Amino acid sequence: MEQTFIMIKPDGVQRGLVGEIIGRFEKKGFTLKGLKLISVERPFAEKHYEDLSSKPFFSGLVEYIISGPVVAMVWEGKNVVTTGRKIIGATNPADSAPGTIRGDFAVEIGRNVIHGSDSVESARKEIALWFPDGPVNWQSSLHSWVYE
Ligand code: UDP
Ligand code: MG
Repeated sequence: MEQTFIMIKPDGVQRGLVGEIIGRFEKKGFTLKGLKLISVERPFAEKHYEDLSSKPFFSGLVEYIISGPVVAMVWEGKNVVTTGRKIIGATNPADSAPGTIRGDFAVEIGRNVIHGSDSVESARKEIALWFPDGPVNWQSSLHSWVYE
């Protein structure tokens, strides 16, 4: 079953959106396979966003991610990478549809509340980076009520 890495950014934690965001993924029918509240150091944030290191917003992005604790999660389910990105909404909250997390809870691109892996390959890399011991191995008893 597919897995994705989802992170509630420091603004999402500070603004008390943790429960709301976890609830959206739970209610969809996805399964929580990893969860921790963690403050990361600058080199770790730079590693997570290494593909963006040449972008003009990179240093501001790293400052943002290390500005407070984040909630790092692994979610599992059918097409969870693509569907997770849809639940999150477009990168710029000005373009995120109402009903998405960024559409409902964010205004600016540099304070867009949440991260989600953009492909199965980046999910694999991000889960390995953030959860070096691997996700938690368990099966939800709701499985047959979500999948036919
Ligand atoms: N970002 C920014 N300015 C930009 C583009 C991106 O501050 O012009 C930040 C924003 O927080 C975004 C993150 O950098 O979520 C990573 O950018 P990416 O293009 O990977 O967007 P995402 O995958 O998060 O939608
Ligand atoms: Mg991205």
